[in-house]
Amino acid sequence: TDILDIQKIRADFPILDQEINGKKLVYFDNAATTQKPTAVINAIAHYYNFDNANIHRGIHTLAERATRDFEASREAVREFLGASSTEEIIFTSGTTQGINLVASTFGRKFIKEGDEIIVSGMEHHSNIVPWQMLCEEKGITLKVIPVTEQGELDMEAYENLLSEKVKLVAVNHVSNSLGTINPVKEIIALAHEYGAKVLIDGAQATSHFNIDVQDLDADFYAFSAHKLYGPTGMGALYGKKEILNAMPPYMGGGEMIKDVTFEKTTYNELPYKFEAGTPNIADVVALKTALEYANALGRENIAAHEDMLLGYATEQLSEIEGLRIIGQAKKKVSVLSFVIDGIHHQDIGVLLDNQGIAVRTGHHCTQPLMQRFNLLGTSRASFAVYNTIEEVDRLVAGIHRVKKMLL
Ligand code: PMP
Repeated sequence: TDILDIQKIRADFPILDQEINGKKLVYFDNAATTQKPTAVINAIAHYYNFDNANIHRGIHTLAERATRDFEASREAVREFLGASSTEEIIFTSGTTQGINLVASTFGRKFIKEGDEIIVSGMEHHSNIVPWQMLCEEKGITLKVIPVTEQGELDMEAYENLLSEKVKLVAVNHVSNSLGTINPVKEIIALAHEYGAKVLIDGAQATSHFNIDVQDLDADFYAFSAHKLYGPTGMGALYGKKEILNAMPPYMGGGEMIKDVTFEKTTYNELPYKFEAGTPNIADVVALKTALEYANALGRENIAAHEDMLLGYATEQLSEIEGLRIIGQAKKKVSVLSFVIDGIHHQDIGVLLDNQGIAVRTGHHCTQPLMQRFNLLGTSRASFAVYNTIEEVDRLVAGIHRVKKMLL
């Protein structure tokens, strides 16, 4: 039994109420991006209709309002992540930019030839490629934590990879392809024993549970707003103050400076040192609304509803002959990747879309993970707070229809 009134919640998401190919839309691509509630859409419109101005430098009323709401969002993110200061919250264009920022600044300054970086075998390309680029540039070695058949990190192998040479460990909190929740607190504690810093890719975690960067003792934590009911193309990076202060700036430009002369430029204080140029003000403001929306529903209630859907869907899909679930970790969020013997994942995606059901198919930007399971891709259904048991039933019936058509 649900504490949440899912039908009432669905009414907050106007996009859900439409037909696709003559069938009521079932949106199961939430790990790629969640839909946005009216409150978030309205926050963006309200900003442009009433408050739009450039921030921080203006003294007129609109500029003061825009600045106030922009900085109020920073405070909301600080609270959401459990950070101790808003100086530690940098607005970015998303998880990808957060990771690239750390690679380009912390990485370039503090990781040297002969050092090592550890990532895991279940990383998104955005938490692989920036490190590979850095490794190539500087002569650093990239090491990979192997993934077990269940879809969990091999923690014994991880401990064996650790040494004084390791300067950074970069792993995701939750796998976008498998749904695995990784033991990041333990991963961080072990890395710290060797003096290595740790970046957590939180892209898939923030929509499912509360984050406490201080309890985790994470050095960096990156996430994207669009995975938790907020706008696309924006997110935030948390970094420990003493590390951010020691890091050189990322992009140069307005806002990130204190004083500029042609002889020497001095940089602004945190967090502005890392926020060159006019930011995505409207979407930053709307992120606060998205966080408030999720908080009002209650993150534990959201998680309980999603866990119920995952349990039911796992049970139902397991009964389909020839269907194999990829990723059976003990701790998972509501992501269900599967393959069906003799059917290409792309065909499953197209034929489900014909029935109005949106799932993601392919490698999910995790090609090395797919190689680990000898797959080119999977079909992935991922559930959010507005999804229902009836929709899972539609998926199950849809898969049976696909099998009937193709096998
Ligand atoms: N990491 C993970 C685990 C992800 O799922 C994603 C988004 N698919 C990203 C990073 C990148 O996020 P963004 O595209 O918003 O920068």
